[in-house]
Amino acid sequence: MADEVLNGSCLCGAVRYRVRAPFIRFAHCHCSRCRKATGSGHATNLVVAPANLEWIEGRSKTQRFDLPSAKSFSTAVCRACGSPVPRLSRDGQRVIVPAGSLDDVPSIKPAARGYWDSRAPWSCSGDDLPRFPESIG
Ligand SMILES: [Zn+2]
Ligand SMILES: [Zn+2]
Repeated sequence: MADEVLNGSCLCGAVRYRVRAPFIRFAHCHCSRCRKATGSGHATNLVVAPANLEWIEGRSKTQRFDLPSAKSFSTAVCRACGSPVPRLSRDGQRVIVPAGSLDDVPSIKPAARGYWDSRAPWSCSGDDLPRFPESIG
């Protein structure tokens, strides 16, 4: 849906945001960094253009972390509850929205699994989505 709008928030509710379609990508990432950052088998991220993210509340309560040893990896969390919140990519071109922080259900489903060759053997995978050995691109 071209006019789709999704609301999202952190675990404690201090941070609230809204994202608008179009959605650039919706995918799982099985890389080791996403495992560490999420504490789970893979990250699931919705990607939008920076102009399509609107902070409703608590932007000043977010804490960004740019991994020094990585060229592009970063995370952001709510400082109060530590749960993941949207972040701008380090090149400033995209916003990465952790799908678990969404309160609304997107009309689309994840379309691919990235860094498949780096996955943890116990990570879930029970579907026929395209798998990429490394970055989806
Ligand atoms: Zn919070
Ligand atoms: Zn990843």
